[in-house]
Amino acid sequence: MNLLTRRRFLRFGGMASAALASGFASFAIGGVKRKVVVVGGGIGGATAAKYLRLMDPSIEVTLIEANKDYYTCFMSNEVLGGERSIDSIHFEYSGLEAHGVNVVQDWVTAIEPDKRMVRTQSGQNFAYDRCIVSPGVDFRWDAIEGYDAEVAKKIPHAWKAGSQTRILRRQLQAMRDGGTVIIAPPPNPYRCPPAPYDRASQIAHYLKRHKPRSKIIILDPKDRFSKFDLFLDGWKRYYGYGTDNSMITWVGGAAGGIIESLDVKTMTIQADVESFRGDVINIIPPQKAGRIAFQAGLTNEQGWCPIDYLSFESTLQPKIHVIGDSALASPMPKGGYVANTTAKVCAAAIVADFNGSRAPRPSWINSCYSTLAPGDAISAVTIYAYKEGRIIKVEGSGGLTPLKFDAAMRAREAQYAHSWFNNITADVFG
Ligand SMILES: Cc1cc2nc3c(=O)[nH]c(=O)nc-3n(C[C@H](O)[C@H](O)[C@H](O)COP(=O)(O)OP(=O)(O)OC[C@H]3O[C@@H](n4cnc5c(N)ncnc54)[C@H](O)[C@@H]3O)c2cc1C
Repeated sequence: MNLLTRRRFLRFGGMASAALASGFASFAIGGVKRKVVVVGGGIGGATAAKYLRLMDPSIEVTLIEANKDYYTCFMSNEVLGGERSIDSIHFEYSGLEAHGVNVVQDWVTAIEPDKRMVRTQSGQNFAYDRCIVSPGVDFRWDAIEGYDAEVAKKIPHAWKAGSQTRILRRQLQAMRDGGTVIIAPPPNPYRCPPAPYDRASQIAHYLKRHKPRSKIIILDPKDRFSKFDLFLDGWKRYYGYGTDNSMITWVGGAAGGIIESLDVKTMTIQADVESFRGDVINIIPPQKAGRIAFQAGLTNEQGWCPIDYLSFESTLQPKIHVIGDSALASPMPKGGYVANTTAKVCAAAIVADFNGSRAPRPSWINSCYSTLAPGDAISAVTIYAYKEGRIIKVEGSGGLTPLKFDAAMRAREAQYAHSWFNNITADVFG
């Protein structure tokens, strides 16, 4: 590995030590230009495209993304709560272009594994040696009667950030004091397990300041959720949870939280025990892999993409790798940090393969912050390793914010949450 390449490589973080141990040469030999086509320019796809170029500048990398820019889901709940602007979660692709990534704005309609070809809506075709697919999640629109993609324009899910975030924010601003906001989280597995409860906290904070007679009802098909005790403790401290005057009511699955249908005209949700009327309704539908993963034959019966954990190559279609939320990478959750760290492992495995080396032995990290109120955040951190064909949690690694409230520690967590956001967005798009 020459000096320049080694320096670049040392900047990578996350998977660097494992990758370095494999010692693969970084430049393609014999002047052959290898082509990688990346489908989806979100957190997984953008990271993979950038890091392929950093690891081996001889690779021709094309990133095909439907939109001209990207809004991060992370911190979009702060936009809903009025604590940050939508512009602050907006990112462009010029940073990737500066790394030599060929960014194409188009919708991918087909991936043909036998021809190794990606086809787009505008009629463009892209041949590949390797294809990386990171299309995020799609929604199961048939799961809740009366709720589909068209209705979501009025009753937003806001589970893909951007225009959906704006709609929900405007509805919260327009709601009368004394109104009811209904949040309906999905069943597992879904994108970012703690985010519906982070959202409830951020909205509660906004209502407490601006519309204090209002209520939030969470209709949840689950009986527990991520960081459960920490959220409930925070809701007690800030929003009167558990008292007659609580701003937040959480109805779990066993208590009737499973929703069956929505009547938009009357703004009523029929849950399995009773019906609930909302002034603002936020339904987050059940999820599955992004649409293109189904077309390309990458999905299993549950609607997610099985992969080999060393390379993230599909176990169903050779030469196609799946990363991000669409991939089946349990016990890792579906999250942005996981999409980022798995993208690096995937890129390193592809570069190793192109250069005749073995894929580095990976490890992954996930840290996930949630906010109870401004200046009071909590986190969960886990390190994962590869062992005998599986992903395992490294025993004794990471941890959860202690339940016992410590104001200084919580304030630090809130600072860490914001610096995490700044760092990861710079890493992905910078
Ligand atoms: C409210 C909320 C808060 C969150 N907070 C956090 C957090 O604090 N920490 C964290 O780690 N994670 C968080 N997440 C999760 C994180 O946003 C996702 O896990 C992450 O974005 C997944 O990356 P991805 O690449 O799989 O998908 P995405 O980032 O969604 O990217 C997919 C991209 O593919 C494009 N695409 C899809 N299909 C096609 C096609 N056929 N042709 C062209 N382009 C296509 C889409 O336009 C999109 O840009 C949060 C999520 C939500 C909803």
